[in-house]
Amino acid sequence: MAVKILGLKVDVDTLRGYREGVPNLLGLLEELSVKASFFFSMGPDNSGKALVRVFRPGFLEKMRRTSAVSTYGWRTLLYGTLLPAPLIVESAPGILRDAARKGHDCGVHAWDHVKWQDRLPKLPVTTLEADFRRAFDLFSQRTGKAARACAAPGWQVTEESLRVQEELKLDYCSDTRGAFPFLPRWGNKVFRTPQIPSTLPTMDEVLGRGGLEGSRLAEHLLGLLREGLNVFTLHGEMEGMGQLGVFREFLTRARDQGVRCVPLSTVAQALDPETLPVCPVRMCPIEGRAGRVATQIIEEEPAA
Ligand SMILES: [Zn+2]
Repeated sequence: MAVKILGLKVDVDTLRGYREGVPNLLGLLEELSVKASFFFSMGPDNSGKALVRVFRPGFLEKMRRTSAVSTYGWRTLLYGTLLPAPLIVESAPGILRDAARKGHDCGVHAWDHVKWQDRLPKLPVTTLEADFRRAFDLFSQRTGKAARACAAPGWQVTEESLRVQEELKLDYCSDTRGAFPFLPRWGNKVFRTPQIPSTLPTMDEVLGRGGLEGSRLAEHLLGLLREGLNVFTLHGEMEGMGQLGVFREFLTRARDQGVRCVPLSTVAQALDPETLPVCPVRMCPIEGRAGRVATQIIEEEPAA
């Protein structure tokens, strides 16, 4: 019988998502005996600076649809502008340690999420390297172990960012949206670090669309699970807080239906880089999200 596997990837973007959302998610996962992958924004919370996105098409509509102010809180929306940017992990290193100690797969999301998500193509490679070093150093200081994976904020990548990550010799990266694990090709360059893409839409991409909320939203997500590997990205700020009840319902029902919930490290261990398909990565638009995201391009088999 074909099994459904659900890889759980938690992105932690903000101080509030870290300090309130992560402990809530750790409690829920423990209760359901499920392990997940957590990717932490390690450095400053500059969420206030993201308000420049207000000028991008689709952003205001999404703010309204997902009630961003109640999800993130007014304070978060001012960090880095009217309020100083607080350091996320350093504000309470015990939370990161706790996630690692409980056996979850923990890795690096970013040093500065907003800087990466909004300005990646303009960042000098020395900044990318320095920010990775800061994030990885702090991670090992606080957990006693080296991070073995990372996940790019907002699914933003460039050839340079993939190259810098490649030099870290990680077990895997999860920077892309797509259908199955692969080795990424950008232009003519093929990278050897496996990509485990997110296959499902995020909750903020579907929330509020056609009345999708509460149990209907959980039901909708369950209906998207297919045989084989599914990867769901959730957020400390959303599923760990205001949408915790919906996530609980989704996860409980998935588990009761026999879906096997795993961290991405478990997926990575089963991959053989020698036989993984190589797929191009391009920045493409995606429904429910402003801007473009790194997308696995699945090319048709050439006709024989
Ligand atoms: Zn993020």
